[in-house]
Amino acid sequence: MKLSSKGFTLLEIMSVVAIIVILAAIVLPNVLNDRAVAQKNACIANLYQIMKAKVIWANENNKQETDLPGWADLVPEYIKEQPSCPANGVYAIRAVNSYPTCTVSGHTISE
Ligand SMILES: [Zn+2]
Repeated sequence: MKLSSKGFTLLEIMSVVAIIVILAAIVLPNVLNDRAVAQKNACIANLYQIMKAKVIWANENNKQETDLPGWADLVPEYIKEQPSCPANGVYAIRAVNSYPTCTVSGHTISE
């Protein structure tokens, strides 16, 4: 009895591998970029929450624009829990009249 199939030829296997490599090269940067954009947007949403909490804290406690609240002043009364950057950046609350910042480049409230 003769074997009906000898399996894949080297050329066929290499073609399949090449197609997979090309597809990965196209898809992977997009996936990574989408992830970075999503993290940045989530971070900026956190920064706005911190800003809002600071302003309400300042209004309710008769604070000056240059006063600097700490997390203990804001959490949990003005912001439910201390937010954290999805890209592991560190937040600086800063004074009431300044936007809070994140240490990750690009994670900023545009002024
Ligand atoms: Zn961030």
